[in-house]
Amino acid sequence: MYDILIVGGGTAGLTAAIYARRAGKSVLVLEGTAFGGQITSSHLVENYPALPAVSGLEYAQALAGQAKALGAETKFGKVTAAEETPEGFKVTAGKKEYEGRALILCTGASHRKLGLPNEEALTGRGVSYCAVCDGAFFKDKDTAVVGGGDSALQSALFLSNVCRKVTLIHRRDAFRAQEAAVKAVEGRENIELVMDSQVTALHGESALTGVTVTGKDGTERELAVSGLFVEVGQAPDNGAFAHLAALDEGGYFKAGEDCLTGTGGVFAAGDCRSKALRQLTTAAADGSVAATAACGWLDKR
Ligand code: NAP
Repeated sequence: MYDILIVGGGTAGLTAAIYARRAGKSVLVLEGTAFGGQITSSHLVENYPALPAVSGLEYAQALAGQAKALGAETKFGKVTAAEETPEGFKVTAGKKEYEGRALILCTGASHRKLGLPNEEALTGRGVSYCAVCDGAFFKDKDTAVVGGGDSALQSALFLSNVCRKVTLIHRRDAFRAQEAAVKAVEGRENIELVMDSQVTALHGESALTGVTVTGKDGTERELAVSGLFVEVGQAPDNGAFAHLAALDEGGYFKAGEDCLTGTGGVFAAGDCRSKALRQLTTAAADGSVAATAACGWLDKR
């Protein structure tokens, strides 16, 4: 029986582990893929305070090392079930079960992909899912953004300050983003809108050189770009925990800045909860808030 079970070993989960260990609680962090989470696939992180340039992997290793050095236990295993018990909570990962008095859910979210054949091979080589993280690598270059939601329009606006030209490609004739963002995009001289169109092919061997854009009417157009920012939404995977923590319409845990889920002893931190900005900094902030709340909750029992 651990004091705190942490589901997910990304920035939120490992930060929660650091705070909980420093408060003297026993901690187990369960991670299904890679300790460090999504950031392990970013080749360079330049927007984390006090770390002007660090590879995602280096950052992740340092974070996991810090949590372990403080005595947090870490195990690989994707948690597929969780239940409340008289003593606290029990989770299942593979064939194993683990018990804890409190539960912090840090399950993250993954960027939806376009599903094109060489998309994975070109990721980090021109294809990106985060303009704020990678936009600076495309200074004065031509880039494109796919999507019609707030993320896509915010990314296009961000990139238009950095890049020579940004082409915003959306599959319908109307954006779902907020009106203010639509107006701002329409007002930028270096953003071209390509509506009713989809990216249907990615070109380039070792790096992206261009994309094929296909319109609803079947017309094809080749676009020479060195960066393609895919902003077609994110997909959380929180179904297994919905009975413990309510989900919003997007599948994210309904928890505010306090990381409280509405179920005593269950906290949600990082990209898996409803929030406006999903970044390393906000995940780390959540991890510390959730762990402090969990420790306080345990101390009152
Ligand atoms: P989103 O609102 O779900 O938008 C995803 C966009 O991608 C939609 O325009 C969708 O097209 C398009 N799309 C989905 N699958 C596609 C595919 N396979 N190929 C091409 N296009 C595809 O996702 P989001 O923009 O990441 O926003 C998520 C939530 O965060 C929203 O609630 C948003 O308001 C919020 N957010 C807020 C801010 C802010 O500044 N306040 C910033 C970012 C995000 P359709 O429109 O045709 O479905």
